[in-house]
Amino acid sequence: MSSQPKDIAGLKLRHPKEEAYEQKTTRELIPLSEVLPLGTPLSLMVDPTNCCNFRCIFCPTGDEALLRSVHRPKGYMSLELFKKIADDMRAFPDRIKELLLYKDGEPLLNPSIVEMIAYAKARNVAQKVALVTNGSLLTDERINGLLSAGLDAIKISVEHMTDEGYARVARANCSYREIHTRVARLFAERERRSHPLLIDLKVLDIDLAEAERVRFIEDYAPICDYMHFDTLMGWSRSDRKDFTLGQKVSRGMDSLNVLSPERLVCPNPFKTLAVNFDGSVTVCCVDWSHALCVGDVKSEPLTEIWRGERLRTLREVHLRGQRGRYSACANCQYFQGMHPINDLDHHAERLLPLYGLESLSSPLADSRANQDSQSKERR
Ligand code: SF4
Ligand code: SF4
Repeated sequence: MSSQPKDIAGLKLRHPKEEAYEQKTTRELIPLSEVLPLGTPLSLMVDPTNCCNFRCIFCPTGDEALLRSVHRPKGYMSLELFKKIADDMRAFPDRIKELLLYKDGEPLLNPSIVEMIAYAKARNVAQKVALVTNGSLLTDERINGLLSAGLDAIKISVEHMTDEGYARVARANCSYREIHTRVARLFAERERRSHPLLIDLKVLDIDLAEAERVRFIEDYAPICDYMHFDTLMGWSRSDRKDFTLGQKVSRGMDSLNVLSPERLVCPNPFKTLAVNFDGSVTVCCVDWSHALCVGDVKSEPLTEIWRGERLRTLREVHLRGQRGRYSACANCQYFQGMHPINDLDHHAERLLPLYGLESLSSPLADSRANQDSQSKERR
């Protein structure tokens, strides 16, 4: 094993299921520009809570002072509000591909999480219902509840490979072995029931040693379906905090795609929606400060928000290469590491009229200079 390259991309291929995962993520996709405009978002994130039992050093949720500085509210989504969102989803012309129960916090902290999943499955609101968790609250009771509710996929974030790493990176009283035991129990129960749940594991590679990367694969490959390494990423509002912790980032968060800093148009406003715990609606998981509000599902149907003026303006600003006008997007690195199949920079001129907007007066490339100067001014 020690003769293997240190490059984490090289390590990926050690596990046959990982290779299948890479093929799945790179070969089965259709260029986004060819399917726009979409009558239905491809995916919807819903945040059961923005509270968390971890305080990860790279995550805005782990930084109370940062959250206070932007006045981010804190709380839990009610089951009633979730049901309203799920009912709204049925009004889209097509079925949403993925409902992801996660955005800013740890979803298993919400006492109604199992009922939420069961309701979404019973109402058949999405092709797949998934959640993201740090794994620490996967008790036997929770495992039974999630499987019985019909969860389709669970994405588990392993924060480090040692107890010391958990204490330092997640700032949590949690042992590596405890997380592994919980995942192993989930896997065993899935096997016992022949349940179709997909288990997707990732570890954040902040500072892993070669032996720790190898151990991740050896420990988890037998008890999951997909596994990968994540890298740090400059999230929304990176002017407020360096979420890369000073590391030089050269790949997207999933460590598969090379980062393209020259990219201007973010694909998210064209393909996804995200509902915060309080019902305010944004377009992506990295809008941690809730600065990109395009509606409120408590008072508007999701379909109207998707077709509404605020989202239309956000799309226009991106297509004109002016995302610097939005504080959330100006210094966001996240989308620059998305798969090139999502590229919209080279299709902006064609797309503007499709959204009822005037064509560009000059090539999008001219916007790069403006974008750069706006970002410098903001700093
Ligand atoms: S476990 Fe997830 S949500 Fe919680 S602090 Fe860590 S990265 Fe953020
Ligand atoms: S640029 Fe960043 S904050 Fe803005 S929509 Fe895209 S991912 Fe979200």
